[in-house]
Amino acid sequence: MTDQTPVNDSDADPTSISMQAARDIIFSRLPTLSQTERIPVASALGRVLSDEVASPINVPPFRASAMDGYAFRFNEASTALNISAHSLAGHPSDNDAGKNECHRITTGARVPDFADTVVQQENIEVRNGKVHIVKKPVKGFHVRPPGSDSVKGSSLMSAGQRLAAAQIACLYSHGITHVDVLKPLRVCVFSTGDELAETGETLPEGHIYDANRALLAALLNNPAVQVTDLGIVKDSIEAMQDAFERCKAFDLVISSGGVSVGDADFVRPVLEKAGELHMWKIAMKPGRPLTFGLLDKHKPYFGLPGNPVSAAVTCMMFVIPTIQKLLNQPATELPRISATLNTDLKKLPGRVEYQRGMLIRTSDDTWEVSTTGLQDSHVITSLHRANCFVELGFDNAGVKKGTTVSVIPFEHFSESIL
Ligand code: AMP
Ligand code: MG
Repeated sequence: MTDQTPVNDSDADPTSISMQAARDIIFSRLPTLSQTERIPVASALGRVLSDEVASPINVPPFRASAMDGYAFRFNEASTALNISAHSLAGHPSDNDAGKNECHRITTGARVPDFADTVVQQENIEVRNGKVHIVKKPVKGFHVRPPGSDSVKGSSLMSAGQRLAAAQIACLYSHGITHVDVLKPLRVCVFSTGDELAETGETLPEGHIYDANRALLAALLNNPAVQVTDLGIVKDSIEAMQDAFERCKAFDLVISSGGVSVGDADFVRPVLEKAGELHMWKIAMKPGRPLTFGLLDKHKPYFGLPGNPVSAAVTCMMFVIPTIQKLLNQPATELPRISATLNTDLKKLPGRVEYQRGMLIRTSDDTWEVSTTGLQDSHVITSLHRANCFVELGFDNAGVKKGTTVSVIPFEHFSESIL
């Protein structure tokens, strides 16, 4: 025992707000974007509908057979039936047939009007050229009614629907060639820092290569988003002011660095003068100094922390949901997986923490997660080696091997907008 150096047993900062409070502040200040364009469905993958789409036709458009077999009148099921015609897919037979007649039919072919039921070919026998039904289907069986997929005039997709493979196929199946979509969200990114050098150039003494513009461009790479790179901005009030001037033509502005309290951190003072500062400091790690405000009254601006891991975490937890909202998509919670830790994790209470982990599925169908090692926010290899965040709650004071923890796999972020 000593009497004693105080032990730092908390990471709390009373001026920080919760992640939910931060999201509420951000979301309550987002504008509604309404610039739309009409584009071919063929090039609409990943775009977001600006209007509802109604079904222009019944799908299927006609009564279609779900089986290879025979179309017949149910009340003649006990009779030997003559085959009077063939209805093949794309080659419909006449709609009529005489008494005790049936039509041979294939899957996807039009069911002639006279018939109310299809019997599959495995359930009949042909004797002396006549069809005998040996296993009677229920009346109406194997006939797909017109509009059983969707009914003409009904709502097919809502505004805000992101068009992935299934939606593109669905639009094609309804004969829809063009859709109204939101114009791609115009996002600009820049990095701040006198120490930053461009990859490809010789690295001067005391400099590091800029990772963040490439990181953000990659995280936001999506057909519904158009990212413009505004380069590296020097650590000065004038350079920051000039950068904000260059953001006029964009819907969303993202910078990294310069949001802490160091001598070269100019983002907040310049934002307060050139626009509005609405939020700074969140009880999370990494990412505490995340800054949010508005430029030109309505344009959302994010000042992300400079360390690449902090920039990545804050982009994933705040910028991506913001883009989702700006694109009029319904808010979604990121799904979590419960996994067993196979190492101890250190943590102080007072912030929610996102540690980088490797999630693996074990043979008995459960999940295990291990740490990627050093968690400092400059350690970009911790992100590169990870496939998930281990989410540790505000009060958590460290976790022992064998504990069940909540994990967010990285794919969920790209699935959410992107
Ligand atoms: P700052 O938020 O500007 O105080 O930067 C925090 C740390 O992140 C410093 O060590 C910076 O050198 C580093 N950093 C800032 N911006 C970048 C960047 N674009 N790429 C890599 N590291 C960065
Ligand atoms: Mg800096």
